[in-house]
Amino acid sequence: MSEKHVVTMGQQFGRRSWAEPWKIKMVEPIKTMSPEERQRAIEEAGYNTFLLRSEDVYIDLLTDSGTSAMSDRQWAALMLGDEAYAGSRNFYDLEEAIRTYYGYKYIVPTHQGRGAEHLISQVAIEPGQYVPGNMYFTTTKLHQELAGGKFVDVIIDEAHDPASLHPFKGNIDLAKLEDLIQRVGPEKIAYVSVAGTVNMAGGQPISMENIKAVRALTDKYGIRVYLDATRMMENAYFIQEREPGYEDKSVAEILKEFCSYTDGAWMSAKKDNLVNIGGWLALNHEDHFEAARNLVVVYEGLHTYGGMAGRDMAALAIGIQEAVQDDYVRARVGQVRYLGELLTDWGIPIVQPIGGHAIFLDARKIYEHIPQDQFPAQALAAHIYADSGVRGMERGVVSAGRNPETGEHNYPKLELVRLTIPRRVYTQAHMDVVAESVKAVFDRRHEAKGLRMVYEPKYLRFFQARFEPVA
Ligand SMILES: *Cc1c(COP(=O)(O)O)cnc(C)c1O
Repeated sequence: MSEKHVVTMGQQFGRRSWAEPWKIKMVEPIKTMSPEERQRAIEEAGYNTFLLRSEDVYIDLLTDSGTSAMSDRQWAALMLGDEAYAGSRNFYDLEEAIRTYYGYKYIVPTHQGRGAEHLISQVAIEPGQYVPGNMYFTTTKLHQELAGGKFVDVIIDEAHDPASLHPFKGNIDLAKLEDLIQRVGPEKIAYVSVAGTVNMAGGQPISMENIKAVRALTDKYGIRVYLDATRMMENAYFIQEREPGYEDKSVAEILKEFCSYTDGAWMSAKKDNLVNIGGWLALNHEDHFEAARNLVVVYEGLHTYGGMAGRDMAALAIGIQEAVQDDYVRARVGQVRYLGELLTDWGIPIVQPIGGHAIFLDARKIYEHIPQDQFPAQALAAHIYADSGVRGMERGVVSAGRNPETGEHNYPKLELVRLTIPRRVYTQAHMDVVAESVKAVFDRRHEAKGLRMVYEPKYLRFFQARFEPVA
């Protein structure tokens, strides 16, 4: 396997600097606040960065979801929205873009990714069936469970080790998968749920070799493979960078080949399709397509808009095309890597190798003295906000929720703070400010205290839970 991923950007791209393939046409002012104001804001937010007001945030790295900057072409396309209730022209353009770049046959538009997850879970899962996948994602797993499925993690062990330098930590462990199939029987497997890249493992890619092997194995048992394509552009870029035989293929070619080994995909277009809202489900088999198209009118909207305005679909069709350009993806992943390399150089523990959309700080290592039931990652995210107004989010025990059977916290091996980089929004100078703030908090780590949870919602608790510092 190529070692390319561990070399610095300077080495990789030669001695000449490179920059984003766009320039700024419009700006949005952001405000700075005093340390006292920030401390008050995070207390009022119950030490949960999701509960901060966005106007109190200086650099917002909460999520890359719906936070992308659209291009001038996308903004212009908004004026060309065909807001007909049925048969909007923009739907057919969107369908065409998905067919061209992802290669699937049938398209069901949805209001965002979880709308598509809901539909595919309801049509493809029978109560009591298992859904093996390469690590869970919050909304994906919840919809699979609400449909009566049981998610089983079959990702390779390296994914759970934040220090492992495996170039494809998103890979499926074929032995684990086959083991499950043989143990419960192929008819008890709803489908294999593949994500590229794997968000919860740190934005880590899955290789072409692995998806081909998953296809071969599932074909043997007549099991379908569905893809969470939310960050597949970034996954395709990592394949181009790291996988032998793909260095001369374009991101677009790699994306299409990868999708060809799957039976369909769901998409949060708010991520790498470069729009602020939207989603879709794409399928190759008529049975699941029919069923999903029947349900979309119940839960989302008519099958030619699925909860999106015509103008949203217009911007989305263009976003798909812009996001698959090699120079764009290189700049996107390059900016994330720039921040990650600064932190690595300063000795701050982060998930390696640096992933596609975010830097994941290893809160378990940084706050070694804070036990996991005092939410070290939740505390670290709050402390970084208080230091500089930079907003990240917890990806650890709070996000992992409770075991539905025992009611205990799930204790994931990874206890992380995610600093997610919106697409085409911030500059390299912003990344410097972020890195310096993380370093300042890291340097004071021994004084830090953990948290206790004082309010816990029933579903997806990380969004609205409230905390107080332990006495
Ligand atoms: C965001 C996300 C989803 C859910 O999509 P929404 O648009 O937020 O509903 C599903 N899977 C992954 C990997 C995601 O990052």
